[in-house]
Amino acid sequence: MMISGKTKVYGILANPVEHSLSPAMHNFWSKQTNKDMVYVPLKVEPGQVKEAVKGAWAMNLGGMNVTVPYKQQVMEHLSQIDEDALAIGAVNTLVPAETGYKGYNTDAKGLLRAIKEKNIEIQGKRWVLLGAGGAAKAAGYILMKEGAKQLFILNRSVEKGEALAKELKQIFGKGEVKAMALSQWRELPEDRYSCIQSTSVGMFPDKDHSPIEDSEFFKRIDKAIDIIYTPAETKFMRLVKEAGGAAYNGLDMLIYQGVIAYELWHPDIKLTMEQVKGAKALLTSMLEGKL
Ligand code: NAP
Repeated sequence: MMISGKTKVYGILANPVEHSLSPAMHNFWSKQTNKDMVYVPLKVEPGQVKEAVKGAWAMNLGGMNVTVPYKQQVMEHLSQIDEDALAIGAVNTLVPAETGYKGYNTDAKGLLRAIKEKNIEIQGKRWVLLGAGGAAKAAGYILMKEGAKQLFILNRSVEKGEALAKELKQIFGKGEVKAMALSQWRELPEDRYSCIQSTSVGMFPDKDHSPIEDSEFFKRIDKAIDIIYTPAETKFMRLVKEAGGAAYNGLDMLIYQGVIAYELWHPDIKLTMEQVKGAKALLTSMLEGKL
């Protein structure tokens, strides 16, 4: 599509930003849905987040994504924050409102869509969450919101896991959340669990590691999503499959957080499954170095 005086500008605010797949994904959908827009990488230096958000508003940017390391910092420069994003404490999508941008967290809802698409049940089920960082917070929030019966948060530093468990208990009141160290996995009550792997362990180039490596642990895992998507199959996923479970990577979560952002920017659009799959094929080729 030709860029003209009418073209609307969107972008991703991050640092570093060079590795981001979002420009390819959103520009693919803009062509598919005939939107006169362009989506660009926006590298912002530390200490410049306020100027970046105010400047984007002043220049009429149609919307933005925000990623590491600015998902929390950006929040104080917004005119409104969606209820889920406020509870999670992180914003990854900015949508123009009356007097400034409104912040949303589409990571949590993107993960939820990926879980539902794989027919993994949340309500009334016992879940294990590996990790207690930013991504874990979004994952723990959505699992509890959707009615998980029990959530065991296993993290390297147990204090961070406990802090997340406390926060989730405060938000939801009902449902049981327990924190323990990764090394304490033997204390999990005997059962088969669904699991979200949200630590950065196993992400390229650290591909020969998993946060837990003991095959006994994996006998307890029935279905798992590793939110890492490089490599396409992590060691964690391999260990789940070797023990007879089903495992998926985080590419669908990434794509669905993008779908939800795109639809927030364009309320008249509902991306079709074909368009979603097209983006997945494009990103897969990019990740495999074919493009
Ligand atoms: P973060 O806030 O820095 O948290 C990192 C987590 O990994 C913490 O729980 C940390 O434990 C744990 N960890 C790091 N090194 C470890 C080690 N050597 N052994 C055991 N645990 C270790 O990062 P984040 O933002 O949550 O991101 C985590 C991962 O999710 C990244 O790989 C990121 O790319 C991925 N992600 C994917 C998507 C998607 O759309 N698919 C979205 C967001 C993030 P401690 O607390 O003990 O340090």
